[in-house]
Amino acid sequence: MDQCMDYVSRFAVSSDAILGAVAGMTPFLNCHKHGDELTDDEIAVFNCYPGQVTDFNRHMIGHVPATDFFVSCGLHPWYIHDDWREEIDIMRDEVSMDKVVAVGECGLDKTVSTSLDLQKEIFIEQVSVSEQIGKPVIIHCVKAFDELLAVHKYMAPRQRWLIHGFRGKPEQAKQLMAKGMLLSFGHQYNVSTLLYVLSTTKSLFLETDASNLSIRYVYDQIACHLSR
Ligand SMILES: [Zn+2]
Repeated sequence: MDQCMDYVSRFAVSSDAILGAVAGMTPFLNCHKHGDELTDDEIAVFNCYPGQVTDFNRHMIGHVPATDFFVSCGLHPWYIHDDWREEIDIMRDEVSMDKVVAVGECGLDKTVSTSLDLQKEIFIEQVSVSEQIGKPVIIHCVKAFDELLAVHKYMAPRQRWLIHGFRGKPEQAKQLMAKGMLLSFGHQYNVSTLLYVLSTTKSLFLETDASNLSIRYVYDQIACHLSR
């Protein structure tokens, strides 16, 4: 199966799916999560850094059903090391594993000290890996959406890009969605944007990221907007 379709179709949730999960009828789908904890009725994609995937898999298989977790792997712009080229090589091997459904998180962040030029170079390398192996990219983008759109235009990717933790306004969502990008929402978001995305595409992505809040909390919060 096309791995891109796999992640995108498996973790996209509609209004009905959100309400169904809150009612206890379907699992909570968490498209981006850190740590190694899985709550009841949750299926999640865990973020791993290069070199962690094999150990992480082994650790998880020991205590949760193998069908309840997946992995993504990438170099986060907050943690760029001098040996990033070697880390990309490690990541390239790891993302070809069946359990790994996406590249990332990776991306661009103007609030960190690493130069934006270097961040772009490293991000483009990871986009290339995504294109080569046919898996989508989970993207961290902070105050760098113009640059992200420029990279998207330059790379013209076939794989989908999912912007995680999206908090922008509807206009920005519209601009990104026009390029085929997908949007994921955590516990903080612009309500108008979330409702706009749901009404336009009939689905979106939900996540806990590094928060201690549960995925149920995110679903419950959104279910309240839907029932108003
Ligand atoms: Zn994250």
